[in-house]
Amino acid sequence: MKPDDIIRKVAFPIVVSGASGAGKTTLCRGLAACVERVAFSVSVTTRPARGSERHGVDYFFVSDGEFERMKAAGGLVEWAEVHGNLYGTPRAWMDERLAEGTSILLDIDVQGGVQIMEAYPDAVSIFVVAPSMEVLEKRLRSRGSDSDEAIELRLRNAVGELEYIERYTYIVVNDSVESAVSRMAAVVDAERCRRSRLFEGISWKDFVGL
Ligand code: 5GP
Repeated sequence: MKPDDIIRKVAFPIVVSGASGAGKTTLCRGLAACVERVAFSVSVTTRPARGSERHGVDYFFVSDGEFERMKAAGGLVEWAEVHGNLYGTPRAWMDERLAEGTSILLDIDVQGGVQIMEAYPDAVSIFVVAPSMEVLEKRLRSRGSDSDEAIELRLRNAVGELEYIERYTYIVVNDSVESAVSRMAAVVDAERCRRSRLFEGISWKDFVGL
């Protein structure tokens, strides 16, 4: 194999977490669109679909019973209860993509993020924060879909999520979507150059083809 072939095999989970309203879903979409060999993990959830959301695209919408069956069968690599609903990441799809050299982008909450970091020590973790708490509140209010009470709850939850920030390797401030996405892309590129990933199970001579 040539160095280039080895580089193309390097793949890892990319955990992206952050308070709701910080903009992590937008940033993940932007990242998936501009970086090669990255695919989005589609989670399983017991929450009902909203608006234009599609089964199998945004989420797999399942009943509580189905969720429990998947969990009991070991089909979820992580799961958590978030804002009163259950969410989980299907294991098989992710492992198959990783094996073929595709990194998997996981837009998940901090409880799930920590489980992924434990299950995959080579995972890359990125925590997205709003430029300030004032901006975060403004973004939550401008969504227009939540009551004042729901916004207060999300803000309180945001502080709870922030308590996990020290478990994450990279912090990206979402000041503008374009620049935040380009910093996330830089993180992925740099992680793909890590010697420990490239030389896994081979020597430098194997790597350069000596
Ligand atoms: P929403 O219902 O607004 O789409 O998502 C609510 C929260 O659940 C977000 O913080 C989102 O990142 C998180 N979430 C989505 N999918 C998963 C998952 O598979 N596992 C975990 N732990 N959290 C998830």
